[in-house]
Amino acid sequence: MSGDNVYDCLVVGGGPAGSTTAWKLAGKGRDVLLLEKRQEIGVPVRCGEGISKQLLDLVGLERDPAWISSEMDGAIIHSPGGTSLALGPEIAGPEVGFVIRREAFDQLLARKAARAGAEVRVKSEVISLKRKDGIWEAVVRTVEGEKRVRSRIVVAADGFESAGSW
Ligand SMILES: Cc1cc2nc3c(=O)[nH]c(=O)nc-3n(C[C@H](O)[C@H](O)[C@H](O)COP(=O)(O)OP(=O)(O)OC[C@H]3O[C@@H](n4cnc5c(N)ncnc54)[C@H](O)[C@@H]3O)c2cc1C
Repeated sequence: MSGDNVYDCLVVGGGPAGSTTAWKLAGKGRDVLLLEKRQEIGVPVRCGEGISKQLLDLVGLERDPAWISSEMDGAIIHSPGGTSLALGPEIAGPEVGFVIRREAFDQLLARKAARAGAEVRVKSEVISLKRKDGIWEAVVRTVEGEKRVRSRIVVAADGFESAGSW
């Protein structure tokens, strides 16, 4: 991570959206920096861990027992108010889905990004972002102090915690 370099793309957030973006862009030869504020990708898990099989095919992910926990024929979603919704193949798709090990899934995607050539950093929180002369400048909080990063484009993949204050 260097203030001298101007990355093609800064991806903020190492969840599935951020890592997949970094993986795909780096695979096309782009200079990509992926920043994740947590110390370990995918940890702690905050997810019910159920996903559709069809989506995996869409992004070109091979099915691997390393992150697949079990297969599902359907699901029943229970609300706190006592209402239940049954999701069968007619709603969820012909193959329905998997229960995954979410931390392993997120880590696999981040590894794919790194192997495709993206620079992946944890403990790196983007705390501000501004545009100057057509280039984005981010201030990043790291264990070594605040750093500045420059990039042509920024992908805000910071999930439901997304900072409206940027
Ligand atoms: C309780 C719960 C249960 C769920 N169950 C399911 C389910 O069963 N099936 C399903 O498909 N989906 C489920 N979801 C939804 C699913 O978790 C999200 O759709 C998915 O995680 C979104 O991925 P993402 O990459 O967009 O964001 P996230 O997975 O939220 O990743 C965003 C990442 O950005 C990082 N970040 C945030 N701000 C910064 C910053 N400023 N600098 C650097 N990094 C930052 C965060 O630490 C995080 O790692 C559930 C969600 C919750 C909360």
